[in-house]
Amino acid sequence: MPHRDELYMARAIEIAKNSRRFSSPNPCVGAVIVHQDKIIAEGYTSIYGGAHGEINALKKVKNPNILSESTLYVTLEPCAHEGKTPSCAKKIAEVKPKRVVIGMLDPFEKVNGEGLKILQFKIRYKFAYFLIC
Ligand SMILES: [Zn+2]
Repeated sequence: MPHRDELYMARAIEIAKNSRRFSSPNPCVGAVIVHQDKIIAEGYTSIYGGAHGEINALKKVKNPNILSESTLYVTLEPCAHEGKTPSCAKKIAEVKPKRVVIGMLDPFEKVNGEGLKILQFKIRYKFAYFLIC
């Protein structure tokens, strides 16, 4: 895993902390989108029932045309299921960033590996992920 990935994942973890007080029972998730080694958008999970971190980051991208050349860093595996919000993995598959780097698999049973399957099937990503303790 290149050093830059660790740097941007560390930033995503920092951002995730913003949602710690209000995302519950959803996990606090942070996301960073990087284009040509520059952060173009950041996001974290909204109050329960609102958008998850990676979707909030995607919403902040001013020029969606560069997403196909960008990397999305997200602290937790994007969700596969439809809950109070649509599936983040499906949304990411639609916009097709060049790479997706995930902090860890989501141990929640409705997601656990299913989010990755959506992304691997639709965009054929190969994943590397960190274990965040
Ligand atoms: Zn989600």
